[in-house]
Amino acid sequence: MASYQGHLAYASILGAAYGCMGALQMDLDWGPVFLGAGLTTLGGLLPDLDSDSGVPIRELFNLAGVVIPLLLLRRLHRHGFSIEETLVLVGAAFLLIRFGVSRLFCRLTVHRGMFHSIPAMLIAGLTVFLIYQSPDLNLRLYASGAVMLGFLSHLVLDELYSVDFMGARVKLNKFAGSALKFWSSSRLATFTTYLLLGVLIWAAWREVAPTMGEQPSTPAPATPGST
Ligand SMILES: [Zn+2]
Repeated sequence: MASYQGHLAYASILGAAYGCMGALQMDLDWGPVFLGAGLTTLGGLLPDLDSDSGVPIRELFNLAGVVIPLLLLRRLHRHGFSIEETLVLVGAAFLLIRFGVSRLFCRLTVHRGMFHSIPAMLIAGLTVFLIYQSPDLNLRLYASGAVMLGFLSHLVLDELYSVDFMGARVKLNKFAGSALKFWSSSRLATFTTYLLLGVLIWAAWREVAPTMGEQPSTPAPATPGST
């Protein structure tokens, strides 16, 4: 199993590369570039939120408690909240994540369960996509790509560390296949993960569909005799 520091180092290097790519290839401003680099790093630490113990977990939930409300700012602004109301809501979101969600999360997840999986990576990406409201679709995709890249790097690193290189022989240890997976032995956890993934895909599609071609998303089917 790769350590917290290992994941942090690996994900921050990837984040720097992802930020550079955004600046050079997509011509992004420094704001989105650093946001992308930061989200990649955060994504690289996210899967170990399920490990229930230690300082990193508290740090991660603190960080998530700050980052998520900040990403929500544009959405709150769009709904016409005043500065004071926005501050109250951001503070409430922090408390909810830091003390509510973190406790629930620790109770519901097991280490190396469904939170270390490909669908969980997609859930993280879609969550960022939905929270981060920007009129520019490319920016939203860039931000969600960042968190997914970091998440994937974590899964790959965990998987690599489950391989013991004994000379020329490669031996798998007991954690093999527990990171880069599509389902777990718990049917309930697998089902819940895919249900959440389905809901998020639906929500993202609902936001994106109207902007594509400006066509009505669901034209009424022409049934005989309806006119
Ligand atoms: Zn891990």
